[in-house]
Amino acid sequence: MGLTGIQIFKLLPKTNCKECGVPTCLAFAMNLAAGKSELSSCPYVSEEARAMLSEAAAPPIRPLVIGSGENVVKIGGETVLFRHEKTFVNKPGLAVLVSDAMPEAEVSARLKRFKELKYERVGLTLRPEMVALKNESGDTGKFEALVKKTKSETDAALILMSSTVEAMTAGVKACADRVPLIYAATQENGDAMAKLAKEHKCPLAIKADSLEALAQLSDKLTAAGLKDLVLDSGARTIRKAFEDQVFIRRAALIQKSRSLGFPTITFPCEMTSDPMKEALIASAFVAKYAGIIVLSDLQGESLFPLLVERLNIYTDPQRPMMMQQGIYPIGNPGEDSPVLITTNFSLTYFIVSGEVESSRVPSWLLVMDTEGLSVLTAWAAGKFVGDAIGAFIKKSGITDKVKHRRVILPGAVAAVSGDLEEELGSGWEVKIGPREAAHITAYLKVNA
Ligand code: SF4
Repeated sequence: MGLTGIQIFKLLPKTNCKECGVPTCLAFAMNLAAGKSELSSCPYVSEEARAMLSEAAAPPIRPLVIGSGENVVKIGGETVLFRHEKTFVNKPGLAVLVSDAMPEAEVSARLKRFKELKYERVGLTLRPEMVALKNESGDTGKFEALVKKTKSETDAALILMSSTVEAMTAGVKACADRVPLIYAATQENGDAMAKLAKEHKCPLAIKADSLEALAQLSDKLTAAGLKDLVLDSGARTIRKAFEDQVFIRRAALIQKSRSLGFPTITFPCEMTSDPMKEALIASAFVAKYAGIIVLSDLQGESLFPLLVERLNIYTDPQRPMMMQQGIYPIGNPGEDSPVLITTNFSLTYFIVSGEVESSRVPSWLLVMDTEGLSVLTAWAAGKFVGDAIGAFIKKSGITDKVKHRRVILPGAVAAVSGDLEEELGSGWEVKIGPREAAHITAYLKVNA
């Protein structure tokens, strides 16, 4: 939000009707300025004021979408330079390069790796989302065939790379419903590429040899009515490309440059031929500040660290990662299987479920919503205590799944077992589990 609370207040109705959920218009204005409220919460803002406030509230880096269906890639929308200020919003899309000059077998192998390299971590699926298709052969037919093959064999969000308008037109027509990113408009072909992007409602990457030329091209295309642009500063050395990423982000956020207020695309694949160096360069762009990172190939040993780095940097530090509250069966449990309970902090869940899996004792794991707090923290906050746990167990539905009435409580909160037994009532037995999750395997082997 570019306006101060007082500037926003002047545009509000000043009736203090409280319908927005706060007592006064001034308080609402302050919340809006701090990004804690949505303008839509006030139904009485005039159209004129709404237009002014919406403009001021637009993120300095325009958010945009590439792709369709479940594998949509959202980029941009960033509002801060540093993650500790607030949070980064949309993680960069990771793309693999596939060229129409590659042998068929190599194309198929890259697409196969694209589909197979997925990892489950803290309840999320980590994977690359994009394929960059390059018209290296210069042949329109080959390019179109590659686009069709990739579209039919993968759910990838597509980046179409060609300098010729004819090949790009054929490529876009072959996958327009996938909303591909058109790469790239330049000074030479800008008008034709812009026409194509407008016609098919696709985002458009723009490329220039300098930041000044890039800003000029961006101004020209936005004046022509294009909104969803992706910037390529043309730099292909790590130093210059990194400088450009930082400059573009600072220009958009600090100087409020609308010309450079768009997400960027980077090409580590064109900066080195060493796969390990390429991964290191890509990791720098994950941190600062790429919207899309194009890799020459996907290999598990370099992709997985990038995915984890991206996950860590783009996780909101103010929101704990949480699991859904519920019953999690592990190893096909039956009506005599043990029932364990824990909290819904993702890491806690994954450590506990991992230990239960290693024990090879089929079990039921009850995960209770503690707002993402770990066992001891939730206990200290009064969220994982006897009566609350008992109430959760009773309404969880676990009694429909097991015929016994025993529950294993984390040993770290053994002190609440009395209250829990009281809440559950007679017929229930509360067993004190191990204090450390690492001892669950041994505990289950002996006790189950
Ligand atoms: Fe003011 Fe609008 Fe909130 Fe009413 S709903 S108090 S008019 S900001």
